[in-house]
Amino acid sequence: MNNIYPTPLDEIKYIKKKYGFETAKKLGQNFITNREVAKDIVSGSEAINSIVIEIGPGIGTLTALLAKEARAVIAIELDDRLIPILEDRFSPYENVKIIHSDVLEIDLNKVIEEATKEFGKSEVKIIGNLPYYITTPIIVSLLKGKIPARSITIMIQKEVADRIIAEPGSKKCGAITYLAHYYSKPRLICEVDKENFYPMPKVDSAVIKLDIREKPAISVANEELFFKIIKAGFMQRRKTLVNSISHGGQFDKGEIIKALDALGIDLRRRAETLSLLEFARLSAILAEEKHNG
Ligand code: SAM
Repeated sequence: MNNIYPTPLDEIKYIKKKYGFETAKKLGQNFITNREVAKDIVSGSEAINSIVIEIGPGIGTLTALLAKEARAVIAIELDDRLIPILEDRFSPYENVKIIHSDVLEIDLNKVIEEATKEFGKSEVKIIGNLPYYITTPIIVSLLKGKIPARSITIMIQKEVADRIIAEPGSKKCGAITYLAHYYSKPRLICEVDKENFYPMPKVDSAVIKLDIREKPAISVANEELFFKIIKAGFMQRRKTLVNSISHGGQFDKGEIIKALDALGIDLRRRAETLSLLEFARLSAILAEEKHNG
């Protein structure tokens, strides 16, 4: 079955009937029903001649398109019921490998190393219509894990996409904005209405692309502390930085006020108004204060 059906929805119906398959809500299974949407993701990802790591192939709608463009597609799927379905579908393809695993558990560096050995050295692109229940953990682990990929092209909830592509220091941003902009250059590829999925989710989606930076946007001595402070800053996003960060428990109000004063940052400011650089400077001063006791 290689795109022999007019639409992915027809393919889903065929799979349901042939294998008695039913989608599982708890695995975030909202499959693409519109081939044009799948094509937009594939063309946005610039997968040509790359090694593609696909997260959550489902019944293989994106996988089939990617296999035509990419040098190889390594598709990682958690649902054991989908493995024989995917293996049947992709057995004629020499450049598609199906891995039965949890993307949050698997060692992606090793997967990439093995794919490079088998298919030759090429740029690595990570692609997926992500399961919504673990969107943020996947993005965090891909970025913090420093996976040797050139880019990450993902379809996610529109609201989360808006946060990720927002400029640090703007109203729409959250802790993940800073993480994304630190490690990558994120941008919108397209928005996708919820009518383009089976079953139809409650919210709309968007496709975004994160081009991984060769080195982070700014230099930070202690990344762990830097991200901890950003996270604490957004824990209570309606409160001032002083209140929100002190609530995190690692620093007391006095230490935070001293650091903000040293940086000339108004004590009334909230996390969402800080730039990446201001957070970096704040974490550097707080680290020093802790160090000097
Ligand atoms: N790519 C398909 C499509 O676009 O039609 C399916 C996308 S669906 C939103 C998410 C897929 O991720 C499902 O196939 C689901 O079983 C799979 N999945 C869920 N949790 C996963 C995990 N932890 N690791 C790998 N795959 C997972």
